[in-house]
Amino acid sequence: MAGAGIGGLRTAEALRTKGFAGRLTVVGEETHFPYDRPPLSKQLLTGAIPVSATTLATDVPVEWLLGRRIVELDRERRVLRLDGGDLVPFDALVIATGARARDHPGAVPHPGLFTVRRLEDSVRLAALLRRPGLRVAVVGGGVLANEVAAAARTTGASTTLIDRGGSPLRRLGPEAGAFVARAHRLSGVHLMFGTAVTSMRAARSGGTTVRTDNPQVPAVDVDAVVIAIGGRPNTEWARSAGLAAAPAGELLTDHFLRATDRAGIPQTDIVVVGDAGARPHPVTPGAFLAEPHWSNAVRQADTAAETLLGGPVFPHRALPSFWSDVHDLKLRVIGLPGLADTRTVVESDATARRLVVRYTRDGAPVALLTINRTSRLAHHRPEIAATLNADSP
Ligand SMILES: Cc1cc2nc3c(=O)[nH]c(=O)nc-3n(C[C@H](O)[C@H](O)[C@H](O)COP(=O)(O)OP(=O)(O)OC[C@H]3O[C@@H](n4cnc5c(N)ncnc54)[C@H](O)[C@@H]3O)c2cc1C
Repeated sequence: MAGAGIGGLRTAEALRTKGFAGRLTVVGEETHFPYDRPPLSKQLLTGAIPVSATTLATDVPVEWLLGRRIVELDRERRVLRLDGGDLVPFDALVIATGARARDHPGAVPHPGLFTVRRLEDSVRLAALLRRPGLRVAVVGGGVLANEVAAAARTTGASTTLIDRGGSPLRRLGPEAGAFVARAHRLSGVHLMFGTAVTSMRAARSGGTTVRTDNPQVPAVDVDAVVIAIGGRPNTEWARSAGLAAAPAGELLTDHFLRATDRAGIPQTDIVVVGDAGARPHPVTPGAFLAEPHWSNAVRQADTAAETLLGGPVFPHRALPSFWSDVHDLKLRVIGLPGLADTRTVVESDATARRLVVRYTRDGAPVALLTINRTSRLAHHRPEIAATLNADSP
């Protein structure tokens, strides 16, 4: 197992549950046993939970090689080389090395800059957020940036959310964006949308000076900047061994999650799980789908274990889904909103903070978004699953 995150852990568990009795080694770059990442941008930042609450149960019988990074894959000899030179031979390989935070070209490294991907990132930021009177800028407009801005504001920090897009959560459409923007405003988060950050440098005052492309906006000095502009898959070591990858770096798989080589030939002994991979798109021929979400890593673990143990029998057909919590808004999304040509607001109540948006393409349902209306998902799931050739549990 390459990677000791949720995808690696759940695949190890699935292999054991399905009867694999051989030797299992999990190699993880971080020194920690697997932990849950979603709280890192939410409850751990606000102090609502302690670090120990992010720990995952790891009673599955495996050998852990933690604090070790895989630097090379030799597909012919079936061996991984670790930093320090040790070799780990394998008969079958699960690639679950996830992603890292994307760098911002305008960021000049200094202690006032933060990303939120690893436990240490979140612990360091949470410690700073305890300081009274803190000024924080969050750069980005996706779910992670919105969660971090909400969490920072909850701790009392003066918080500014800056993104070049016109509203938060652009990919979900303006209805959800307007809801989230309203929640930010009511909570006192200062929004600077339609503004691109151009540079983040150490300020003389000890914090960070943030400059934007808007000449009307003066440079802002803050104590901390959180850069949350997406992820980069940790796949360089596998790509340089000849495995096929998308332009963004995800390893391309077949429907059974087997890695493919550059000629498109599936590798019977290598599967890819979670943020590191992209599978064939369920409805767009020739395209691939990356789903950097928790439930994807968990569900792919099961398919990958089936494929390794039983061969290519069960294609991966899980319905895409993710969740996010921003202030008191519980966002839930099933399906693929990006496919839609039409959005219909099924329910909208700004006072009760409830929203339901249905996404269709050529009249067929492709996704549903709910805010504080999770109960509405079940009704729509079968029809969305049918359009997307997915299973509807
Ligand atoms: C702060 C945060 C909040 C999130 N919140 C949500 C949410 O609310 N809802 C949701 O659906 N999803 C959320 N996600 C996404 C979700 O956590 C990820 O999709 C999930 O963690 C992916 O699991 P993974 O196992 O593929 O990768 P990861 O969890 O990233 O684990 C990969 C592991 O592999 C290790 N690794 C990398 N390279 C190497 C190497 N060369 N050698 C050895 N080990 C290596 C990494 O250090 C890491 O420990 C969040 C993610 C983050 C970062």
